[in-house]
Amino acid sequence: MFLKELELYYFRNYIQEVLKFSENKIILLGDNAQGKSNLLEAIELLSSLKSHRYSKDIDLVYHQGVYGQIKAKISNGYVDHDLGIIIPAKGKRELFVNSEKVKRNLDFLGIINTVLFSNLDLDLVRGAPEYRRNWVDNLLIQIEPIYWHIIKDYHHVLKQRNALLKKFKKAGYDHNLSSSADLELQLWDEKLAETASRVKRRRARVITKIQPLARFWHHQISQKTEKLVIKYAPNVLWQEDTPENVQQLIRENLAEKRLAEINLGTTLVGPHRDEIEFIINDNLARSYGSQGQQRTLVLALKLAELQIIEQVTGDCPLLLLDDVMAELDIKRQQQLLDCLGDRFQTIITTTHLNCFNKNLLHQAQIVKVDGGKFN
Ligand code: ATP
Ligand code: MG
Repeated sequence: MFLKELELYYFRNYIQEVLKFSENKIILLGDNAQGKSNLLEAIELLSSLKSHRYSKDIDLVYHQGVYGQIKAKISNGYVDHDLGIIIPAKGKRELFVNSEKVKRNLDFLGIINTVLFSNLDLDLVRGAPEYRRNWVDNLLIQIEPIYWHIIKDYHHVLKQRNALLKKFKKAGYDHNLSSSADLELQLWDEKLAETASRVKRRRARVITKIQPLARFWHHQISQKTEKLVIKYAPNVLWQEDTPENVQQLIRENLAEKRLAEINLGTTLVGPHRDEIEFIINDNLARSYGSQGQQRTLVLALKLAELQIIEQVTGDCPLLLLDDVMAELDIKRQQQLLDCLGDRFQTIITTTHLNCFNKNLLHQAQIVKVDGGKFN
């Protein structure tokens, strides 16, 4: 996959800019607050329709104006694609593939795949379980775009079920639900079991796939001294991996926690409570790793992500490195470059070039970013 051109129109701090990419490695160079991360965010949106910098669409539009637009030309092996997103400050986004408007996100997702590594990703190791769940979910969306709907359906059911439990709590129900209330809750139990099992089984599968790859890279980067284990810790455990069995276990768990759920007014069973554990040499990376170890772990996870997307889609995703390359020592930079080879187009942001590996500086297209303009 090769990103050939990106056009930004009233997006973040860009008014109208076009950037043509000529190399496999691109360095975006600029002082703080000039628009480097904004550019990566535009590519991330094309890839996942989401931004890791949590914000409302209105914040993506230049000075909260009327609308912003992102366009890109991409080459996927033998086929070229044009992608476009119109982002109104208010209202629904419009998506275009090869100049034709597409109605479903599903038809837009999966055309451009990216793996982003920014300093925020250290929360993947250090932060709350939600960061790790989001990481797995975003990876699943890229390799199985239908997952976008699967996780959305689950969150919808969870929200409705929580609202119902809250209502029961307020009404002071405990185990004496009226028959109509009981029936209503049973209906939501059924929907929860169905949607939750879809999410959980896919999460388990992708973690099984990523584990050996992440382990390999981690072993390489940590100079073969450390051993990584990634463990999926769902709050419902299963042996036999069939939808019927997982659904049944979720139903049983819901029945067990029914009283507690009504007392607390919230759902206690489901993928929103899953944990994904990173264990290095038998210790939880979250509570034990040093800064350097945590960075190495995230880098290994990102390399594994690149590989898994490549394996599943048959095409190399783009790697976006926001402010992290300069923080690796020259040796690790070289290791990373060796791992990437020429296969993965890589966009790197930095405020200065002096700590970069010479090979990289030699190969790269260097683009200066200054106040929302390229030169
Ligand atoms: P750093 O090196 O600090 O990471 P950066 O070059 O990555 O900097 P960005 O995060 O890309 O910086 O850009 C930040 C700038 O974009 C800020 O000046 C911010 O005010 C501006 N900005 C963000 N959203 C908008 C918007 N909707 N309209 C206009 N400007 C915006
Ligand atoms: Mg930045």
